[in-house]
Amino acid sequence: MTTVDLPLLPLGRGIDLDSERGVECPGDLPPASDPTLVERARAAKEALGDKVFVLGHHYQRDEVIEFADVTGDSFKLARDAAARPEAAYIVFCGVHFMAESADILTSPEQKVILPDLAAGCSMADMARLGQVEAAWSALEAAGIADQVVPVTYMNSSADIKAFCGRHGGVVCTSSNAQTVLEWAFEQGTKVLFLPDQHLGRNTAVLQLGIPLDECVVWDPRQPNGGLTAEELTDATMILWKGHCSVHGRFSPDTVDALRATIPDIQVLVHPECQHEVVLKADLVGSTEFIIRTIESAPAGSAWAIGTELNLVKRLAAAHPDKRIVFLDRNVCYCSTMNRIDLPHFVWALESLVNGVVPNVIEVDADTEHHAKVALERMLELPGKSERD
Ligand code: SF4
Repeated sequence: MTTVDLPLLPLGRGIDLDSERGVECPGDLPPASDPTLVERARAAKEALGDKVFVLGHHYQRDEVIEFADVTGDSFKLARDAAARPEAAYIVFCGVHFMAESADILTSPEQKVILPDLAAGCSMADMARLGQVEAAWSALEAAGIADQVVPVTYMNSSADIKAFCGRHGGVVCTSSNAQTVLEWAFEQGTKVLFLPDQHLGRNTAVLQLGIPLDECVVWDPRQPNGGLTAEELTDATMILWKGHCSVHGRFSPDTVDALRATIPDIQVLVHPECQHEVVLKADLVGSTEFIIRTIESAPAGSAWAIGTELNLVKRLAAAHPDKRIVFLDRNVCYCSTMNRIDLPHFVWALESLVNGVVPNVIEVDADTEHHAKVALERMLELPGKSERD
């Protein structure tokens, strides 16, 4: 059989390099059908030895996770990287904001590499620095900015974390959002929560007992966020209009349909899901919480899980004694996470073997300094350093 060498990324091959961020690739990717990809990845990793440390986010494909030295959520992985100073190269199999966080927490000598620069995060991209600065100016004009503490989810770009650092704010993860919000309400009377409205709303209402009608949504595409001066004055939580394109898909009617089909099923969801879905769930928590819950569940129990499909599939494969189903009728992978595939991984590793350091993610010194301020405020909160 003859094979035809088709470009994998036609948009990036001289057609319109600006049409899609990050698709240019300074070298030839191996074809996805190359039967030697696994062997090439193994050989390159072995040749690099301790110089390379491969991080694999829970939502990565199996073919990539196989080569990860550690797996975890974004915050755990960034800290794992910081604990390996002997690794000159950190290959981050995840998305862009995660590689930025790893760069912030690792030493300047360590290079953080993202195998495909197009692996972004739609949620992080929903809060751009210019939009957030404009919103802050509007809060100042409304005379309330001095009461507002900005809090950003780990899933945000480094410049948004730095914005929070500069304005007395903080970073949170999905595990410690309650503690972080409690701290924020000791500093001010209102919170601007970025960029995930669902995590902000679920934590404020279900864990802090803030009334739903005191949560308003700031839409950066509307004048004054789409809010009146009175709505802003009355609000306790100002939620940025952002969401995860994966977790935002789960719907309350799917929960009802599954409960009708499998009567004793337990519904376990991530707090990035819509409030209406979380209200119907039995348990809600971070990816690490979801993993721990399934690991400790009794044999024969049944679970519907609302998080990224790669993780749900791996949990189902690892626990054949439990019934595990996906909380959606349709296949729902994170498309940007899935951009890290074996061809990109092999290309990144082989480039390193050949003395070329590709796709380095580097946060500038000023942004890094202020982002670290916001991260360190979170780390100083007692017992709450863990997990997104
Ligand atoms: S799963 Fe959602 S939050 Fe995570 S990287 Fe994908 S789009 Fe972003």
